[in-house]
Amino acid sequence: MVFHSTEIQVDVPEVKMEIIKKVREMKIFSSEARQKRQTIVFVPTMGFFHDGHLSLMKEGRKQGDLLIVSLFVNPTQFGPSEDFQKYPRDFERDREMAEGVGVDVLFVPEASEMYPVDHQTIVRVEKVTQGLCGKSRPVHFQGVATVVTMLFNIVMPHLAIFGQKDFQQLVTIRQMVKDLCMDVEVVGMPTLREVDGLAMSSRNFYLRPEERQAALSLYRSLKKAKDLLQKGERQAEKILKEIMEILLSEPLIQIDYVQICNASTLEDIHEIQGEVVIALAVYVGRTRLIDNLVYRSY
Ligand code: AMP
Repeated sequence: MVFHSTEIQVDVPEVKMEIIKKVREMKIFSSEARQKRQTIVFVPTMGFFHDGHLSLMKEGRKQGDLLIVSLFVNPTQFGPSEDFQKYPRDFERDREMAEGVGVDVLFVPEASEMYPVDHQTIVRVEKVTQGLCGKSRPVHFQGVATVVTMLFNIVMPHLAIFGQKDFQQLVTIRQMVKDLCMDVEVVGMPTLREVDGLAMSSRNFYLRPEERQAALSLYRSLKKAKDLLQKGERQAEKILKEIMEILLSEPLIQIDYVQICNASTLEDIHEIQGEVVIALAVYVGRTRLIDNLVYRSY
């Protein structure tokens, strides 16, 4: 007997992303998944998704049975004069994008539930948070470490994925997981860039056209650094000088820092050796942007 495709009725189960808002509900969901021996992969985010976020989710999709993404603009990682209030938000767009890449659960907790009035515990990672962004953002990394600890306890992931774009954050989380014996594997993913090289960031949304143009000098300066490294330059001072020259030629840019550090300890280095990170932070107008280059010398 010959069947034609139109004659075959296949029940395709509708795969729908769940949205969980309550901490208790998220914990029950994850506990049950663990009881079923499902591997939970977790991608924490602050939303306003771009392809960088999606690349983490797509990787997560490949690495486990259940992909959980949190969307939470965490107030405690913003300083008093920072952009918490105006941080870009678009829940509907984020929901669609997450569903589009196969996220199973979007966890969207309320700040009032994450931080009830009697909340008083802070997780602080001491050394790796002191330099780089830690200098101008003194409460940032304790806010990050605290919320990621809470999210790990709620979501109970086997594996958590972070972007190298926020390199100091990644190093901080790795250190915290190691120091506090957390049972989570931390995976770092490369930075996704726009076609012209600008590192994708939710904050790029703030940039006016002329600022966006000026922001391209971040990538240009890192590319120059890579070029020098590939040609054998090993003096950090010389590389920093070239980077600064490129950045300083942009009147719209104000440098917060440019540093070359050991990629594990984040301590400044003078001579390029082993794995290093060239990290920079600048203000383009009022928008603070960061970028980095990780380089391994042999
Ligand atoms: P955020 O929503 O900015 O907190 O970022 C959530 C996650 O996405 C973090 O682990 C970031 O490091 C990562 N991320 C942000 N921008 C990029 C990018 N351009 N490429 C890859 N990952 C990124």
